Formats: sequence, structure tokens, C-alpha cells
Amino acid sequence: MSEEFENALQAMRDAGYKLTPQRKEILAYLMTHETHPTAEMIYQDLKNQDKSISLATVYNTLELLLKTQLVLAIDSDMDGKRHYDYFGHPHYHAICTNCGRIVDGRNFDLSQLPNIAANETGFLIKGYEVTVEGLCPICQEKLGINN
Ligand SMILES: [Zn+2]
Ligand SMILES: [Zn+2]
Repeated sequence: MSEEFENALQAMRDAGYKLTPQRKEILAYLMTHETHPTAEMIYQDLKNQDKSISLATVYNTLELLLKTQLVLAIDSDMDGKRHYDYFGHPHYHAICTNCGRIVDGRNFDLSQLPNIAANETGFLIKGYEVTVEGLCPICQEKLGINN
């Protein structure tokens, strides 16, 4: 078990949540998948290895993880669904307005954003999301766009 997973579990304990096996499974899934899955996708994948898991458990666990800020929700206009993302390492997202693909962007340091925003606005910052929109390389190719 990685140190990062241990730290994430500790953050859940600190927030007062019990670490049931299924909560751990769902957290581990998000940490190892950069696919920005929906709750249904997580459920479909996990039920192969754990027959006792339910979609309700997945949803409930995702709600807890959102509260701990370990996980970020991305509401996609493309499919009208909520996608989930492990956010232990703050990053921005590039979303394709043609196919809906969500790609992680890690080449920009967002870690100071909450502090800067808090100082500027006086807000108690509870979360944030930074998104850029455009056409992904595959869609550029498909649509015959040369840049
Ligand atoms: Zn695309
Ligand atoms: Zn992401």
C-alpha cells in the first residue's frame, strides 16, 4: 500500500469517516484511474471484483470523498453526467468541447490558488476547479483542423 494511499485514508479518518473495505476500494480505484469516471463506471468496474458493492454505496462514498476534498467532481456539459477525479495532487482539466474527453493538466502549479483566493476575497475556500476548453488532438484530426 502506497504512502499516498495511507495519507488519503488518514485524511478520511481525520474527517471522522469509518474506513469500510468498500470505501477503501472506491478511493483506491479513483487513485489508480485517471479516466474521470462516473459513479456508474466505478460501480461497473468494481462489481466484477466485489459482488456485494451497490451503486448506492458508490454514490454515498463519493459524497464523503468530495467532503474531504480528496476527490473533485466535474459536471460535464457534454454528457450531462458528474465525473469524479482523485485530487490529491491539484491539477487543471482540459475538456474537449467536441467529444467530452477530460484530460489532466499537471504542468501548472495550482497549489497556491486557495490561499491567494482566500486572502483576496476573505472566503473560507472549500474547493476549486480550473478548466480550459477546446478541441482535443483526436478531434482536431477528425475535423481536419491543422494548427
Ligand atoms: Zn475530442
Ligand atoms: Zn483530473
